[in-house]
Amino acid sequence: MSAYEVAIKNFESAAQTLELKPDLVSLLRYPERVLTVNVPVRLDSGTVVRFDGYRVQHSTARGPAKGGIRYHPAVTLEEVKALAMWMTWKCAVVNIPFGGGKGGVACNPKEMSDGELERLTRRYAAGILPLLGPDKDIPAPDVYTNPRIMGWIMDTYSMMKSDGYPTPGVVTGKPLTLGGSEGRGEATGAGVYMCLKAAAEHLHLPLKGSRTVVQGFGNAGSVAANRLDSHMSRVIAVSDSQGAVYRKDGLDIPKLILHKEATGTVAGFPDSEPISHEDLLVLECDYLIPAALENAITQDNAGRIRAKVVAEAANGPVTPEADAVLDSKGVFLIPDILCNAGGVTVSYFEWCQNEQHYYWDEHEVESKLERIMTRSFHEVLALALDRKVNMRLAANMLGVLRVAEATAGRGLYP
Ligand code: NAD
Repeated sequence: MSAYEVAIKNFESAAQTLELKPDLVSLLRYPERVLTVNVPVRLDSGTVVRFDGYRVQHSTARGPAKGGIRYHPAVTLEEVKALAMWMTWKCAVVNIPFGGGKGGVACNPKEMSDGELERLTRRYAAGILPLLGPDKDIPAPDVYTNPRIMGWIMDTYSMMKSDGYPTPGVVTGKPLTLGGSEGRGEATGAGVYMCLKAAAEHLHLPLKGSRTVVQGFGNAGSVAANRLDSHMSRVIAVSDSQGAVYRKDGLDIPKLILHKEATGTVAGFPDSEPISHEDLLVLECDYLIPAALENAITQDNAGRIRAKVVAEAANGPVTPEADAVLDSKGVFLIPDILCNAGGVTVSYFEWCQNEQHYYWDEHEVESKLERIMTRSFHEVLALALDRKVNMRLAANMLGVLRVAEATAGRGLYP
């Protein structure tokens, strides 16, 4: 199933369970705006190549569109549409005043020089400029984009729209020196940890002494692993695209982070044994955190998962078929639109700080994030228990309902 098919399927089951009116269902099924831009870039060699770029605004019913920009060879309009729709429900689940959007350029940034990447970013930003603005559409980093790229987007917007004067609120995930927020780098992994803490209390499955497995030791996965480690969960296995390592009594996560920084991979970490990517996912453990890419748990391996809780740090790591299998095995799933919403929540804080010109310290960011993540977890859980549905459906229902209410509340123009 493509990401788009998964997004539509999850939306339709939420809409059906909520008994949404057919006109609202058909409205919310489609994005509000879709822009495709032609992005020509002069390479260092002097040759000009062109790339396809996209920006999709799925819904602005609850606020400006919010969502990352992905640079990846596999980016397609369909994928961007799916990711934009997920952003809409995600912002609604954590109840922040944003709609959903997403952008992408089909390119391989790993093959580009810094200069080429900057020219690509500025030309793409110029192309989607009519959609952008602090009250219209606010991009952020996603796969293979980073704070430096956000700085170039902010600068391009400021030069073209504000006569060169800075408009920091047009993009989040910026470097601190340009108006980024404290805590943004840690936010997604921190939010995953906060959801797990709430789940642990609900399930009476203490983190202390538990066993955790993390697939994908990048931004989201390594921060979540580090927080669990420092709260006495034994992180027994982690992986990245180049390898996976296992230690029965728990890996030394701070040292593993240093090893990854030094060598670029978790593979070869001393005091651990190698394990295959497939075996890692089916290890017996309490908490399994897929934090890499889509389709990690499918109908092929779902039956062999031995975790008690699956926390989706990644977007879309469990397919709908696998969902049904995990459900039948009694696995407690924390769905992506709740579990990884810490990132967009601190993006919201960054935007608030930019708009107020008043900046918060790390403690303030962390405590506000914890309040929102814990409240959201309990709202989804309460709906799941009340309607006797699983956490995935409950999160989708909560997100879709809030957007449907805002859409209906605004009425139909003209
Ligand atoms: P990242 O690039 O920092 O890390 C991804 C990690 O996954 C890398 O270590 C990579 O080597 C590893 N990986 C890739 N393929 C793998 C495989 N087959 N098996 C094991 N490991 C593999 O990216 P990230 O920002 O941590 O994002 C990870 C996921 O979290 C994505 O789905 C992303 O959309 C989602 N997410 C991230 C954020 C955020 O703020 N970073 C927010 C919301 C959602």
